[in-house]
Amino acid sequence: MSAERLSPSGGKINVGVLGATGVVGQHFVSLLENHPWFNLTWLAASERSAGKRYGDLPWRLARRLPAAAADLPIDALDAIDRAPSLLFSGLDASVAGDAEIACARSGRLVVSNARNHRMDPLVPLLIPEVNPDHVALLERQRAERGWTGGIVTNPNCSTVVVAMVLGALRQFRPGRVMVTTLQALSGAGYPGVASLDALGNVIPYIGGGEEEKIETETLKILGTLEAAQVRNAPFTISAQTTRVPVQDGHTVVMSIELGTAPSLEELTSALDGFTAEPQQRKLPTAPATPIILAMGHNVVRGAAGAALLNAELLVARGIGLAVSPSGNDAYATAEVRGA
Ligand code: NAP
Repeated sequence: MSAERLSPSGGKINVGVLGATGVVGQHFVSLLENHPWFNLTWLAASERSAGKRYGDLPWRLARRLPAAAADLPIDALDAIDRAPSLLFSGLDASVAGDAEIACARSGRLVVSNARNHRMDPLVPLLIPEVNPDHVALLERQRAERGWTGGIVTNPNCSTVVVAMVLGALRQFRPGRVMVTTLQALSGAGYPGVASLDALGNVIPYIGGGEEEKIETETLKILGTLEAAQVRNAPFTISAQTTRVPVQDGHTVVMSIELGTAPSLEELTSALDGFTAEPQQRKLPTAPATPIILAMGHNVVRGAAGAALLNAELLVARGIGLAVSPSGNDAYATAEVRGA
């Protein structure tokens, strides 16, 4: 193995995926293939899938199923004693809350996509380009909850696009923000929206708190960390979310009132030239230019890819992973590297 293929800890880190059979879970499995720092060793899903070989279940992505993953067995959620120290979660929200806490309590670090813990004041809601300093909440989370593991979340798949743009424009002091989304079908999971509802239609409202997630999560992400807690960003945001019949890629239309009056050129270069810690650290999946168009891939950057970049940031910042009780990890360290 060449030096550049090693994680900052010096070896590949064994990782697992909770909810591995879902849309987000399959993207995790796909993105983790040949990852230079992470080695996928464990998969979990519901009792419906447990006990089966991963390759024997339906694979719904255009990219082929990675051969190494196909042979892995699927565990149920009550088998976390077999799980490695670093877990990605694409679990359905109906089960993610308790399952992720159980993993954190047992010493696992969970990098989650699910909404359940995003607004917990002790849980980082992370976009590595926008608020990498919020990783510091993890220390307080571990101390107050008594966990040796922990939970880190990424935002809703539209919020990540909104917050990334606002992060790039922070210097112009955003005041009021109006957001309208046109969200892809894959954002609803599988089987998702009924075909007769979706075809030739714009569904004018997405339930399940989709609008509220954009309105609340964005303020936490753009908030400042003061005395180990997040103080929300001081602007107001109003969102309307719609579903449109495209497979992948959420379009977000934003109207932003700014506290300063930048020229068009200043605005364009703030967006075009936006880079941050992931680019400086050259994290394996960090895009060289995080903002190209006002459009985001809801799963590649909005879900599985968001969590993967979060995990890379945690590892690069030297966040300690506890040894799992079964001792099956290639990596176990509490070393702290310069952040
Ligand atoms: P999905 O396709 O419905 O997959 C859900 C996963 O959860 C499956 O692996 C499923 O396992 C598992 N699961 C369901 N009930 C379970 C139970 N009782 N016990 C254990 N496992 C259970 O959903 P998804 O679209 O991938 O979304 C997953 C999570 O990510 C959700 O919380 C969602 O809100 C969030 N998210 C999704 C997107 C997106 O673009 N799709 C974006 C951002 C965030 P089985 O296959 O065995 O049932």
